Amino acid sequence: MSAPHALATMIIAIDGPAGSGKSTVARRLAAALGLTFLDTGAMYRAVTLAALERGVEPMDETSCAELARALRLEFDSDGRIRIDGKAGEPAIRSDEVTRWVSAVSAHPRVRAAIVPQQRAQADRGLGIVAEGRDIGTVVFPRADFKFFLTASAEERARRRSLEKHEPERFHAFLADIERRDHHDSTRHDSPLKQADDALLVDTDGVGPDGVVARLLEVIRGRAG
Ligand code: C5P
Repeated sequence: MSAPHALATMIIAIDGPAGSGKSTVARRLAAALGLTFLDTGAMYRAVTLAALERGVEPMDETSCAELARALRLEFDSDGRIRIDGKAGEPAIRSDEVTRWVSAVSAHPRVRAAIVPQQRAQADRGLGIVAEGRDIGTVVFPRADFKFFLTASAEERARRRSLEKHEPERFHAFLADIERRDHHDSTRHDSPLKQADDALLVDTDGVGPDGVVARLLEVIRGRAG
């Protein structure tokens, strides 16, 4: 990590596995610091949704990459993705998209189309809090702050079932989380991995407020 920039151009990278609380924490941290929130997973979900809707085979790298280049991906002022001008939520969170997104995001040519769009968000000169799997390692290796959030797979599945109000599906969520962890961390291009200079934050038993407070302490301690 380099010396911190002024808050206005600061880049904060938050990585971690599915259900580690990255989105909630990144969103709240961005609000607390007056920075823009960037949900990079939403971009891979958008490509996956478009592929499923258009009958594009998720394993077909060339067609998925074409789609990734052709789609107009933007974020509204709340940080929610818009796909060719249409709201992407809640469709990008469907079980079907979740089932296929790791396969689509593993295609190097899809990533080659999406990563520059993520970097362009930072080039707008507004500071950002970006969350994903490869933010501190690949997208913004020179981020001012890097955090890697973890929690046990059981805790993450429990959170997911509470969030979705489907406690009876705990085991299905657990299986999905374990499958995606494996897929995302063993892929060849930009695997899920803690950057050498990222701070590991174990969120087991700690709510989002506690995690945000911890991150703010680190940021204010070093930037202030
Ligand atoms: O963060 P979320 O769970 O919505 O991400 C969905 C999927 O998108 C991940 O399981 C992963 O396959 C992919 N992803 C990625 N790189 C990122 C963010 C997400 O490959 N920076």
